[in-house]
Amino acid sequence: MSIKENLNHIKEMLPEHVTLVAVTKTKPVGDILQAYEAGQRHFGENKIQEMTLKWEALPKDIQWHMIGHVQRNKVKYMAPYVAMVHGVDSPKLLQEINKRAGQHRRTIPCLLQVHIAEEQTKFGFDETELQEYVASGDLKGLKHIRVMGLMGMATFTEDEHQIRKEFRNLKAIYDRLLKHLPEMNILSMGMSGDYKIAIDEGSTMVRIGSSIFGPRSYG
Ligand SMILES: *Cc1c(COP(=O)(O)O)cnc(C)c1O
Repeated sequence: MSIKENLNHIKEMLPEHVTLVAVTKTKPVGDILQAYEAGQRHFGENKIQEMTLKWEALPKDIQWHMIGHVQRNKVKYMAPYVAMVHGVDSPKLLQEINKRAGQHRRTIPCLLQVHIAEEQTKFGFDETELQEYVASGDLKGLKHIRVMGLMGMATFTEDEHQIRKEFRNLKAIYDRLLKHLPEMNILSMGMSGDYKIAIDEGSTMVRIGSSIFGPRSYG
């Protein structure tokens, strides 16, 4: 199947309210252009340098989503153009994004990453930290970022019950946080292997790579 066919196949399965971010990490610009020509505009990368090279090479109406772990010293490279940062996992990172966005007179939409998986290796706030941070009011001082929602990744497992439980937990955290951040409207959860479960559990944004572009050899 071609990239265009894969993309259309997935789009047919997504409800209207779910946004598809096509994850292009490690894939060449030619592949991205095929998806672009099929109408796709939201693309996701997990490395800032790679994303910046692709931003430079590709049409400027593409919305670039930074979905990976963000190193603070690289925020400056994406600040001029990034459409949304999904993996925000610390107050210090929010401060850096705010500062760099301000230098470009922009407001950068951000998602706070929540740690829902069993693996220790996945990044993110836990719910207590998140509630404390939001209650601290520090966010109100950050005029150049807008927290639009939450992002999470389930444990890498075949156990669908486990994955469902983790996504349900993230949705519950999201609902509780809405009282404090009523402007939130994005819940980014679900990848190639688990997006159907994620949508069942309330996802509004899925990040799908290999089901569109085929397997990656690295990354
Ligand atoms: C790579 C990646 C994806 C997409 O993974 P696939 O299994 O290829 O769909 C989604 N989210 C994040 C954070 C990723 O790093």
